[in-house]
Parts: sequence; structure tokens; C-alpha cells
Amino acid sequence: MADHSAEFEPLPTRIVRYPDPVLARPASPVTAFDDELHAFLERMIELMRESEGVGLAAPQVGVSRRIFVAEPEPGPESVPVVFINPELELGGGLEPFEEGCLSIPEVRVMVRRPSVVRIRALDLDGAPFELEDDAFPARVWQHEFDHLEGVLITDRMSPRDRLTHRKRLKAMREDFEDAGR
Ligand code: ZN
Repeated sequence: MADHSAEFEPLPTRIVRYPDPVLARPASPVTAFDDELHAFLERMIELMRESEGVGLAAPQVGVSRRIFVAEPEPGPESVPVVFINPELELGGGLEPFEEGCLSIPEVRVMVRRPSVVRIRALDLDGAPFELEDDAFPARVWQHEFDHLEGVLITDRMSPRDRLTHRKRLKAMREDFEDAGR
């Protein structure tokens, strides 16, 4: 039995919300490319599309593994890409852009990130591939990669955004505590 099958079954049913501690934890690499992983990836893609997201990372469905899926320009022709154990090489200048997160509904934050990204990752069968981008996909990859490091957009907020979203984030923390009781 693969080392991760207990994590992937049962398949996730929902997206985990701030401040669930799984979102703040660095994720572990994937080591087995088997049927359990494939079923999990299919489920992640479904959840991303149901939520109308452009990307989703495994910690966001409660699984602390280095996996994310991305579909920066959803459409009838688009094919979601699976990134496993990704590594980023960043370049270009820092650019501000407003980001949201499926784990932090109703919060949008201005985040400055490098504009050019080269990403190396493994596909669903463990084969390495490499992509480069200097537009919206580069932004999505960096946001999702952050999730694998336990970093959220709330960790990258400006003091001004921190003030703007203070009440909303406090309410989410209270909801989380209440749910845990
Ligand atoms: Zn996110």
C-alpha cells in the first residue's frame, strides 16, 4: 500500500478555510504515482472547477502534500495542469496584482510578486516537465506554490489591506473556533 493512501481516501469533499492549521503547514513531497493519487487529482480538478477557481493546492482540501492544479483561463477548450513537487525560478520585476483565495472567501489582497516564473514539476505519472510564463499563469503558480509552503495571501498583506480585512479575518477565526467546539 502506498504511503499516502490514507491521506487520499476518502476523497476530499470540500475546500478547507482559513485559519485551518493545515493551510499554515509546509507540505510533504509526493513519492508514489499510483491510482490513489490519480483519483485524488481528478477530485481536486472537480473541486477547483465547482468553486470557479483558477488554481487549487492539496493543503486546501486538507492534504499536506506538494500538489497543485491550475487552470488560469478556464473555458471549454482549456485543460487543467497538474503540478507535483514543483520548484520555481523567479525573475523580472515585482508587480502588484489583486489576488483572492478559495480558502479565504470575500478577501482580496494586493500582492507584489516577480513577473516571470519558470516552473519545474512532475506530472501525474511522475514525469518531469518545465513551463515558463510572464502573465497570469505565473501569478497563479506563485499563489499555489505558496500554499505548499504554508503561506497565505494574508501573510503577504500590506498594512492597509490588514486593516481593511481585520474584521472579516477575525470573524473567520471565530467561526473556525466555534466549528471546532
Ligand atoms: Zn489560495
